[in-house]
Amino acid sequence: MQPPHGTFTWQDFQLLVRKAWQEHFPPAKSILLISFSWGNQEVVEAMKLMMDQVHPYQEAILFLHGQSWRAAFCPKCGTRFVKSKPQQRFCSEKCFRENRKANKRAGWKEHGAEWRPNSKKTKTAKKQIKRGDK
Ligand SMILES: [Zn+2]
Repeated sequence: MQPPHGTFTWQDFQLLVRKAWQEHFPPAKSILLISFSWGNQEVVEAMKLMMDQVHPYQEAILFLHGQSWRAAFCPKCGTRFVKSKPQQRFCSEKCFRENRKANKRAGWKEHGAEWRPNSKKTKTAKKQIKRGDK
C-alpha cells in the first residue's frame, strides 16, 4: 500500500491517517506517521501546504496515540471527531439531539401504548402521543 518514494501525495498520506484513526492509533502506525514527515521532503512540502506547519500535526498524532479513546466516529453522521469526554458518543450537540429525537420517536412508535398508563390504541391515544412527542 506504500507507494514508491516520490509519488507519495498528501492524499496517500490522508489515507494513512484515516486508517490509523480507524485502528485507534496503534504504536507502529503512529511512529510511521510521525517519521513520514521527516524522511520524505515531498511529504513535508505537501504537509506544509496542507496544514501550514509540521509540528502541530505531529503533536496531534502523538496526542491521539496517547489518548486513542478520543479518536472516534460519530454514529449519527459518520464523521471523524475528537472526543472531549470518554463517554461522549456524538460529534456535536446537533447529532446528539437528532439521535435522541429519533430514539424517542422509535420508542414511542414501539412502546407508546405500554408506556402510557391506561391507554389503548385509540384515537385519543394517538392524539396524546403527538402532544407527548417533544
Ligand atoms: Zn455527527
